[in-house]
Amino acid sequence: MTKQTLSFQAEVAQLLHLVTHSLYSNKEIFLRELISNASDACDKLRFEAINDGGLYENDSELKVKVSFDKDAKTLTITDNGIGMSTQEAIDHLGTIAKSGTKDFVSKLSGDQKADSQLIGQFGVGFYSGFIVADKITVESRRAGMKAEEGVRWISGGAGDFEVENITRAERGTSVTLHLRDDAMDYASAWKVKGIINKYSDHISLPILMEKEEWKDGELINPSDEQGGRQPGAMVKTGEWETVNKANAIWARAKKDITADEYTEFYKQISHDFEAPLAHTHNRVEGSTEYTQLLYIPGKAPMDLYNREKSAGVKLYVKRVFIMDDAEALLPTYLRFVKGVVDSSDLPLNVSRELLQESRDVKAIREGCTKRVLGMLEDLAKNDKLPEVTTSAEGVTDVVSEEDKAEAAANAGKFTKFYNEFGAVLKEGLGEDYANKDRIAKLLRFASSTTDTVSVSFADYKARMKEGQEAIYYITADNAAAAKNSPQLEVFKKKGIEVLLMTDRVDEWALNYLQDFDGTPLQSVAKGAVDLGKLQDETEKKAAEEAAETFKPMLAKLKEALKDKAEDVRVTTRLVDSPACLVVQDHGMSTQLARMLKQAGQAAPDVKPVLEVNAEHPLVKKLDGSVHFNDLAHILFDQALLAEGGLPADPAAYVKRVNALLV
Ligand code: ADP
Ligand code: MG
Repeated sequence: MTKQTLSFQAEVAQLLHLVTHSLYSNKEIFLRELISNASDACDKLRFEAINDGGLYENDSELKVKVSFDKDAKTLTITDNGIGMSTQEAIDHLGTIAKSGTKDFVSKLSGDQKADSQLIGQFGVGFYSGFIVADKITVESRRAGMKAEEGVRWISGGAGDFEVENITRAERGTSVTLHLRDDAMDYASAWKVKGIINKYSDHISLPILMEKEEWKDGELINPSDEQGGRQPGAMVKTGEWETVNKANAIWARAKKDITADEYTEFYKQISHDFEAPLAHTHNRVEGSTEYTQLLYIPGKAPMDLYNREKSAGVKLYVKRVFIMDDAEALLPTYLRFVKGVVDSSDLPLNVSRELLQESRDVKAIREGCTKRVLGMLEDLAKNDKLPEVTTSAEGVTDVVSEEDKAEAAANAGKFTKFYNEFGAVLKEGLGEDYANKDRIAKLLRFASSTTDTVSVSFADYKARMKEGQEAIYYITADNAAAAKNSPQLEVFKKKGIEVLLMTDRVDEWALNYLQDFDGTPLQSVAKGAVDLGKLQDETEKKAAEEAAETFKPMLAKLKEALKDKAEDVRVTTRLVDSPACLVVQDHGMSTQLARMLKQAGQAAPDVKPVLEVNAEHPLVKKLDGSVHFNDLAHILFDQALLAEGGLPADPAAYVKRVNALLV
């Protein structure tokens, strides 16, 4: 094959532009990305070699070498991993395969500041080399292929790249960065080692650099030892030394790992720029043995709500990398968790299908779920700064500076977590029956008396009115609609708190939670209101009487609205509004039905019940009105509008209102 010039896929060109223009304040991440690719390539080789030992070509000591040449202004990262064929080089280094990255690129705004924030959530991967290089040369040969089947790939990082066929005896890949003038400090052992320590210590592969030693300069006057010397310099010795710890971090003892090391490992596997909120690291022994190192990120990825999205846990078997995104290791509602599980009980050739069925995996999944919920419980417990209490004798709690600092560091983390991932956690109510109660305790809501999303079911219960027998909630499209809903009127009047549920997933999830800690949950928009002991006898009596005297009118209303309403009845739940819509006790709410329809899904036609406020002037006016029919329809349509819906025939509604206004 002769030399070919090919264009980058449009998204790559865009990404490259962003990389070179907005990541200058984070230059050094390029080394982390390239070393991580080298390490991935070695992992892949090790994995393929399980079935085909020949791929090692008698060289099974996998490693990465980093070298630089000051005069040539280059920095080279070489691995003896799986390598790339020509086609693979074209495909992998010229296009973006991962849909996540593609979505990301499509969301770029062109505003550099905003974009570079966004990019923090993504690995820019190989292309990050162009932060420091104005040209990159990749030479590679795939394991198992002939020496003549090597490939050279060159690009200046603009619109195109060149590929040609070369002969390359060594298996694996070398990536040579031709450093920009302002990036020449990366051609220094000291600088490079520092970055490797920071980002890649925990990579289980040895990273080698050529040893240097100090050499004095020549004597200025060879006959005079005292006459001084030319400046000395560090020179390469030809000997290579391992510069990282080369020990999988999760396999090390907890006590030997610093907080920074945990954070850096997280950044490496998640490509996040920010530190995680929490981690848990355990060796689990027993009938299934494994090690878990799991993290809770502080920021949601953009594709969080895609349940098909890859999971974030990598599976290793006895230190051998098996697969990324092993979704069988955690339930879907915990898909935001990042980390590693290393099992010694699974076979090396385990497939995704096998994972789904394995009993060991089931045990691992349960163990990981418990740990993650435990982490979240800890975050929740420490979300608020502890109050300093002073006893009656005037003795104030003594809190050490250390404890204070720790409390300050942990405060607010759960709130941050919940803002990012709360809606996903709720899916667990339906998905994870066994842990339903633990999940329910972690949920937070806004309420009719608290604007922030901070009320737990337990908080709510602690504030329940005497005689109150249920936890009341309302579902709506947004907080304003929930808060101003007519259904809340009687609760406001009686000073009863109502939880506001405005996440799309709420109604679905709440279906799976009948009660919390023995107290039933009750939607205020479903069924008849029964405030039980909260309603006094006179109120009950008045309601019954109203229902009786209204009977003939209800029949007329029912007849007029027979196509729209399942039933019409008098209610006590309204104070200021003339009417509202409710659904039968176990029916689907009108919001949910509306949402499903908007999403193009099949939803039953929910015929709601119209409830009218017998005390309201508009309702009183109905009796004997010549406009009875129009008023009836207006009443219904307004009730629909009040909960964020639209009349089935908006034009007819407008016409009716206008006719009355005139
Ligand atoms: P990612 O590593 O997330 O897949 P990158 O942009 O870092 O994305 O790399 C793109 C692809 O290029 C890799 O998935 C891999 O197929 C290929 N690649 C990059 N570096 C190497 C390497 N050193 N050896 C073999 N393949 C590589
Ligand atoms: Mg990569």
